[in-house]
Amino acid sequence: MLLEICPEEMRFLDSVRAFVADEVLPNTREWESNTAFPDTIWPRLGELGLLSMTVPKELGGAGVSCVAYVEACREIATGDPALAMNIAAINALCAAHIVHFGSEEQKRKYLPGIIKGDIKLAWGLTEPDAGSDARRVKSVATPIADRPGYYHLNGEKMFITNGGKANLIILIARTSETELSAFLMETDQAGFTLTDRIHTIGVRASNTVRFQMTDAIGWHTPCSFEQAISLLYRGRLGIAGMAVGIAEKAFELTVEYGKQREQFKRRLVDMQSVQNMIADSATELEASRLLLHKGAVMFDRGEDVTLISSMAKLYASETANHVTNRAIQIHGGRGMTFEFLVEKLWRDAKLTEIGEGCSEIQRMVISKNVVGK
Ligand SMILES: Cc1cc2nc3c(=O)[nH]c(=O)nc-3n(C[C@H](O)[C@H](O)[C@H](O)COP(=O)(O)OP(=O)(O)OC[C@H]3O[C@@H](n4cnc5c(N)ncnc54)[C@H](O)[C@@H]3O)c2cc1C
Repeated sequence: MLLEICPEEMRFLDSVRAFVADEVLPNTREWESNTAFPDTIWPRLGELGLLSMTVPKELGGAGVSCVAYVEACREIATGDPALAMNIAAINALCAAHIVHFGSEEQKRKYLPGIIKGDIKLAWGLTEPDAGSDARRVKSVATPIADRPGYYHLNGEKMFITNGGKANLIILIARTSETELSAFLMETDQAGFTLTDRIHTIGVRASNTVRFQMTDAIGWHTPCSFEQAISLLYRGRLGIAGMAVGIAEKAFELTVEYGKQREQFKRRLVDMQSVQNMIADSATELEASRLLLHKGAVMFDRGEDVTLISSMAKLYASETANHVTNRAIQIHGGRGMTFEFLVEKLWRDAKLTEIGEGCSEIQRMVISKNVVGK
């Protein structure tokens, strides 16, 4: 599919590409070994419009199309997948939540700081006992009698991206036995306690945490659970973009390596088994890009992307895992060393099959949609 991107968004994507080449890729190993991004990254992301891609221009944001959003996620993932994951979640799940469900007062209070990177965000759905089965959330929200719109939050969240850095967390909690809704919780309060930094095999620079809420104060954003969760559809396209970026980088490095490495008096890329792996990776990558772009175009046209976003995420994330695995194979022993980036991409790729709904959940969504009720 030939994407139609307007000149303004082309310039935006050019600036993202330059940022990745000059400021992201050269630092990706250091960020991983520090298991952190530098604090200076936030204002820089704000300046580039990368924290407000889903915030309309009328509200001061970068307000780009979904096509530009997924392309930005893809570009960033070629430099640092963990950064792409954070940017994807912050835009699609956090900032977009305030845009869609926040009151005028909430938008006025938080959006300017979010756009600039002064207010750092996280999104909290997952709990120790509520993962794929998100409706099992146990965190409870109880109205505070003399403060309309404010609730006491009690419970625990786990695997929350950027949770230890965030000033504001958008989280899902239970308002009754049958209903869930979403709340804005500032982290600078006594009721919020970080309990654990979770270290993962991939996306290690990302600040993944577990936290406890004990009578923490949350500000209600009136919306149903289904409405809050529907933001995951564009979110999944962002993760699919991240997966395509990871696969593209691994593929590029592998072709480069295969052209210069010789064995049996031939380049690796001249051996048929290697050619087969390269052909499979190229084809899966192309198909992933097509699904990704189709989903983004449909979103921009206002069409329902429930099905296509699951298809794009499922296929692109499995592609990222296949392509990075083949990349290591073609690099041979060197592929297993920390000297070559393909091992990191292979570890980072795994997240795309798990975050924002594991592959089994995507298959469930796809099957339900194609079979019907
Ligand atoms: C690095 C990282 C960052 C994350 N960031 C966030 C975040 O910012 N905010 C947030 O809320 N969450 C976040 N998550 C959580 C993530 O969304 C969950 O890990 C994911 O949804 C799966 O939930 P679970 O880990 O509890 O696995 P489970 O739900 O326990 O599932 C385990 C496995 O069981 C299988 N399975 C489960 N259900 C089904 C089913 N119905 N049919 C078939 N098989 C099934 C699948 O193979 C699945 O992988 C993050 C996770 C990671 C690893």
